[in-house]
Amino acid sequence: MKVTDPERFWSHVVRGPAAGDCWIWTGAIANDGYGCFWTKVGDGQNVMRPQRFAYQLATGTALPSSVLLLHSCDVPICVHAVLDAAESHLSEGTHKTNMLDRAQKNRHANRWSAWRFNGLAREERTQRSRDLRDVILTHGWDPERMSAALAGVEETHPRLF
Ligand SMILES: [Zn+2]
Repeated sequence: MKVTDPERFWSHVVRGPAAGDCWIWTGAIANDGYGCFWTKVGDGQNVMRPQRFAYQLATGTALPSSVLLLHSCDVPICVHAVLDAAESHLSEGTHKTNMLDRAQKNRHANRWSAWRFNGLAREERTQRSRDLRDVILTHGWDPERMSAALAGVEETHPRLF
Protein backbone atom coordinates (compact mmCIF):
# COMPACT_ATOMS: atom_id res chain seq x y z
CA MET A 1 0.00 0.00 0.00
CA LYS A 2 1.28 3.42 -0.92
CA VAL A 3 1.99 5.76 1.96
CA THR A 4 0.63 9.23 1.28
CA ASP A 5 2.54 12.43 2.01
CA PRO A 6 0.18 13.40 4.85
CA GLU A 7 0.59 9.94 6.43
CA ARG A 8 4.34 10.21 6.18
CA PHE A 9 4.17 13.76 7.51
CA TRP A 10 2.16 12.89 10.63
CA SER A 11 4.44 9.92 11.35
CA HIS A 12 7.11 12.57 12.11
CA VAL A 13 4.92 14.62 14.45
CA VAL A 14 4.46 14.14 18.19
CA ARG A 15 1.45 15.91 19.71
CA GLY A 16 1.38 17.01 23.31
CA PRO A 17 -1.39 15.45 25.42
CA ALA A 18 -3.26 18.70 26.19
CA ALA A 19 -5.42 20.53 23.63
CA GLY A 20 -3.24 23.65 23.66
CA ASP A 21 0.07 21.81 23.46
CA CYS A 22 2.48 22.11 20.59
CA TRP A 23 2.72 19.44 17.92
CA ILE A 24 6.42 18.91 17.46
CA TRP A 25 8.05 18.05 14.16
CA THR A 26 10.60 15.29 14.76
CA GLY A 27 11.96 14.93 11.22
CA ALA A 28 14.86 16.76 9.62
CA ILE A 29 15.78 20.21 10.92
CA ALA A 30 17.63 22.73 8.75
CA ASN A 31 20.43 25.04 9.80
CA ASP A 32 17.98 27.80 10.66
CA GLY A 33 16.21 25.79 13.35
CA TYR A 34 13.12 25.07 11.23
CA GLY A 35 12.10 21.69 9.89
CA CYS A 36 12.32 20.20 6.41
CA PHE A 37 9.80 17.83 4.86
CA TRP A 38 10.59 16.29 1.49
CA THR A 39 7.89 15.24 -0.92
CA LYS A 40 8.17 13.53 -4.27
CA VAL A 41 7.17 15.67 -7.21
CA GLY A 42 7.35 13.74 -10.46
CA ASP A 43 10.87 12.36 -10.66
CA GLY A 44 12.26 14.98 -8.34
CA GLN A 45 11.86 16.10 -4.77
CA ASN A 46 10.38 19.18 -3.22
CA VAL A 47 11.32 20.41 0.22
CA MET A 48 8.72 22.13 2.35
CA ARG A 49 8.55 23.71 5.74
CA PRO A 50 6.60 21.30 7.95
CA GLN A 51 4.53 24.13 9.43
CA ARG A 52 3.44 25.19 5.94
CA PHE A 53 2.56 21.64 5.01
CA ALA A 54 0.49 21.29 8.20
CA TYR A 55 -1.20 24.63 7.60
CA GLN A 56 -2.12 23.69 4.06
CA LEU A 57 -3.53 20.39 5.27
CA ALA A 58 -5.65 22.25 7.83
CA THR A 59 -6.97 24.86 5.41
CA GLY A 60 -7.10 22.64 2.32
CA THR A 61 -5.64 25.39 0.16
CA ALA A 62 -2.17 26.12 -1.16
CA LEU A 63 -0.29 28.84 0.64
CA PRO A 64 1.38 31.38 -1.68
CA SER A 65 5.10 31.69 -1.01
CA SER A 66 4.55 35.40 -0.31
CA VAL A 67 2.51 34.56 2.78
CA LEU A 68 4.49 34.00 5.93
CA LEU A 69 3.31 31.84 8.78
CA LEU A 70 3.69 33.08 12.31
CA HIS A 71 4.13 30.81 15.31
CA SER A 72 2.11 32.16 18.22
CA CYS A 73 3.93 29.67 20.45
CA ASP A 74 7.28 30.69 18.96
CA VAL A 75 8.49 27.10 18.74
CA PRO A 76 10.08 26.85 15.27
CA ILE A 77 9.34 23.13 14.88
CA CYS A 78 5.72 23.30 16.06
CA VAL A 79 3.17 22.28 13.39
CA HIS A 80 -0.03 22.81 15.40
CA ALA A 81 -2.21 24.18 12.59
CA VAL A 82 -6.00 24.04 12.84
CA LEU A 83 -8.79 26.07 11.27
CA ASP A 84 -9.88 27.69 14.53
CA ALA A 85 -7.64 30.74 14.82
CA ALA A 86 -8.00 30.77 18.58
CA GLU A 87 -6.60 27.24 18.76
CA SER A 88 -4.05 27.31 15.98
CA HIS A 89 -0.41 27.98 16.80
CA LEU A 90 0.11 29.08 13.20
CA SER A 91 -1.40 32.07 11.49
CA GLU A 92 -0.79 33.97 8.27
CA GLY A 93 1.17 37.18 8.40
CA THR A 94 3.56 39.48 6.66
CA HIS A 95 6.98 40.62 7.73
CA LYS A 96 5.31 43.74 9.08
CA THR A 97 2.72 41.91 11.16
CA ASN A 98 5.47 39.57 12.25
CA MET A 99 7.17 42.56 13.85
CA LEU A 100 3.94 44.07 15.19
CA ASP A 101 2.79 40.80 16.68
CA ARG A 102 5.86 40.19 18.70
CA ALA A 103 4.17 41.49 21.82
CA GLN A 104 1.39 38.91 21.45
CA LYS A 105 3.68 36.12 20.44
CA ASN A 106 3.58 34.29 23.71
CA ARG A 107 -0.16 33.72 23.42
CA HIS A 108 0.45 29.99 23.43
CA ALA A 109 3.56 30.04 25.52
CA ASN A 110 3.85 27.25 28.00
CA ARG A 111 6.56 25.82 30.15
CA TRP A 112 8.38 24.09 27.31
CA SER A 113 7.89 26.64 24.58
CA ALA A 114 8.04 30.10 23.24
CA TRP A 115 10.17 32.63 24.98
CA ARG A 116 13.03 30.18 25.23
CA PHE A 117 13.53 30.63 21.51
CA ASN A 118 13.11 34.41 21.53
CA GLY A 119 16.20 36.37 20.63
CA LEU A 120 18.35 33.32 20.06
CA ALA A 121 21.06 33.42 17.44
CA ARG A 122 20.55 31.11 14.49
CA GLU A 123 22.99 28.47 15.72
CA GLU A 124 21.47 28.39 19.18
CA ARG A 125 17.96 28.18 17.81
CA THR A 126 18.97 25.30 15.57
CA GLN A 127 20.67 23.51 18.44
CA ARG A 128 17.65 23.99 20.67
CA SER A 129 15.23 22.74 18.01
CA ARG A 130 17.37 19.65 17.53
CA ASP A 131 17.74 19.10 21.28
CA LEU A 132 13.96 19.31 21.70
CA ARG A 133 13.39 16.91 18.81
CA ASP A 134 15.97 14.45 20.11
CA VAL A 135 14.45 14.43 23.60
CA ILE A 136 11.03 13.63 22.13
CA LEU A 137 12.41 10.98 19.78
CA THR A 138 14.24 9.30 22.65
CA HIS A 139 11.81 9.74 25.54
CA GLY A 140 8.47 10.73 24.02
CA TRP A 141 6.54 13.72 25.36
CA ASP A 142 8.41 14.23 28.62
CA PRO A 143 7.84 17.79 29.93
CA GLU A 144 10.69 17.65 32.41
CA ARG A 145 13.27 16.63 29.84
CA MET A 146 11.79 19.00 27.25
CA SER A 147 12.04 21.93 29.64
CA ALA A 148 15.63 21.05 30.37
CA ALA A 149 16.45 20.86 26.66
CA LEU A 150 14.78 24.20 25.97
CA ALA A 151 16.39 25.89 28.92
CA GLY A 152 19.77 24.71 27.70
CA VAL A 153 20.37 23.46 31.21
CA GLU A 154 22.70 20.55 31.61
CA GLU A 155 21.23 17.85 33.80
CA THR A 156 24.48 17.78 35.73
CA HIS A 157 24.11 21.49 36.57
CA PRO A 158 20.79 21.87 38.36
CA ARG A 159 19.62 25.42 38.90
CA LEU A 160 19.85 26.71 42.41
CA PHE A 161 16.86 28.43 43.94
ZN1 LIG B 1 3.08 25.38 19.15
